Amino acid sequence: MPKIYNFGAGPAKLPEEVYEIIRNELTDYEGTGISLLETSHRSQTYMKLNTEVQEVVRRLLNVPANYKVLFLPAGGQGEFAAVPLNLMSRTGTADYVVTGAWSEKAAKEAKKYGKVNLVVPPTNRYTGVPDQSTWNLDPNASYVHICTNETIHGVEFNFIPDTKGVPLVADMSSNFMSRKVDVSKFGVIYGGAQKNIGTSGVALVIVREDLLNQAMPICPSILDWTQTAKNDSILNTPPMFAIYIMGRVLQWIERKGGLDAMAEAAEKKSSLIYNIIEGSNGFYYAPVAKNSRSRMNIPFRIGSSGGNETLEKEFLKGAEAMGLIQLKGHRSVGGIRASTYNAVTLEEVQKLAQYMKDFYAKHKD
Ligand code: PLP
Repeated sequence: MPKIYNFGAGPAKLPEEVYEIIRNELTDYEGTGISLLETSHRSQTYMKLNTEVQEVVRRLLNVPANYKVLFLPAGGQGEFAAVPLNLMSRTGTADYVVTGAWSEKAAKEAKKYGKVNLVVPPTNRYTGVPDQSTWNLDPNASYVHICTNETIHGVEFNFIPDTKGVPLVADMSSNFMSRKVDVSKFGVIYGGAQKNIGTSGVALVIVREDLLNQAMPICPSILDWTQTAKNDSILNTPPMFAIYIMGRVLQWIERKGGLDAMAEAAEKKSSLIYNIIEGSNGFYYAPVAKNSRSRMNIPFRIGSSGGNETLEKEFLKGAEAMGLIQLKGHRSVGGIRASTYNAVTLEEVQKLAQYMKDFYAKHKD
């Protein structure tokens, strides 16, 4: 089997150093003689880990003291429901900026609990973040929801919108911890962990304290941020293993130089691929506007803007033969998608870049 280069969109590659640690700790967690998988969530051992992971989140993002750091079950989509259930009771209405498939899903979920105002006109071709001057924000909204990185469409925000005092809620599932973020500009930041910060099953939620205590009476306790905060994220048996992996990944990010180092690497890796696309005379085609191109997920077509499926199949087949895997675009958009998350190294992206150059040279005429 060739060396594997994993460009999957999620669950995605974890840092190799983290695997070393997990391997060593798997059957004897911190000298307890047993695995964390067999440890009570009420034990001192788990309580210590619970605190450690919150602390590394706080250090990396410089989280202000008036924000809670919470671990919730049910991943990113669990929070699609939790957001309206926790926040919509104030006015019964919320603003959703839909820039791709995931924010579209979040808006659909929120509609179950109140009125949803679509801030930008609906479309089925997501190719950028519409200029904020065109947004139709409702001053009466309980919150404004954005997805800072659309994993399927490769659309990333390069700015923090001004929501005129209405709390800003951001799904950062696929670009969490890839650059510095001014947390104080947000009411809530959340994300599933399985892309940049760990494995599936847990959502990391950072919520400003004044937004607690307003959950709808129908909000299940397990999705209620206030109850979760009161119980220090140990309301029920938490997804302990996923929280543990998240902690080890975040500590790895810290050792690597923190979010500035991640941002620098993300810029380098993604520009390598975008530059090849741009230099290919239309052979490779990236549908997203340059100012909204994701540094994490790079979707592109081959042969024409609509994609030549025969060439795309050949590209994927040749890539797999070289160990370059999970490059197939999401089934809803087709084509190719290369994900360049924190754990994917520059050398790995260079390998893909070389393959793209060779493929172009072979097929350009
Ligand atoms: N939000 C974004 C941006 C995502 O990419 C995903 C998953 O891919 C989700 C939400 C849903 O996360 P989960 O599968 O953990 O529910």
